[in-house]
Amino acid sequence: MASVLIALGGNVGDVRETFRKAVANICGMTQAALIARSSDHVTPPWGEEKQDRFINACIEIETALDPHALLFTLHKIEKKFGRDRTKETRWGPRTLDLDIIAYDDVKLDKPELTLPHPRLFERAFVLVPLAEIAPYRVIGGRKVADALAAVSTAGIERLPDVG
Ligand code: ATP
Ligand code: CA
Ligand code: CA
Repeated sequence: MASVLIALGGNVGDVRETFRKAVANICGMTQAALIARSSDHVTPPWGEEKQDRFINACIEIETALDPHALLFTLHKIEKKFGRDRTKETRWGPRTLDLDIIAYDDVKLDKPELTLPHPRLFERAFVLVPLAEIAPYRVIGGRKVADALAAVSTAGIERLPDVG
């Protein structure tokens, strides 16, 4: 089994409800065990600033799927929840984005799958929820809590848990 960290994001529709269902789908469709789930956080948009705020969260799962099969399944789940890549702009509005942040200590450098995620250390919206569930995890030689301490978390708000 591999330990995998996945970042969830979205800013269109009822994102928290989408996350709830998406996490269930991830576990069901990848036959994964959910090891940890962060709180949801409201975060300022990144890359393309003229759009609604995002909600972000991270989960840790254990799965037997290999990285490519996992990514394929995550893309299917994004689609199921209304993601349509043909109609979107880079870093623009979307219902659901599922990124593989780290898959064990696997390193890959392909456009279709780069591991660990290449923009992780620039992104407080990933590091804040990630540090809730995996502060001591070392990714690409850096401890998550240390990486978080090096970025600005301005504008990020933790949301209270739902029911
Ligand atoms: P970013 O990668 O900067 O977060 P994005 O999530 O908006 O941008 P997408 O349009 O969702 O980008 O994905 C573009 C491509 O990135 C996907 O088709 C996928 O094959 C590729 N990709 C490469 N590495 C990863 C990864 N670690 N997790 C998810 N997708 C990845
Ligand atoms: Ca992304
Ligand atoms: Ca993505």
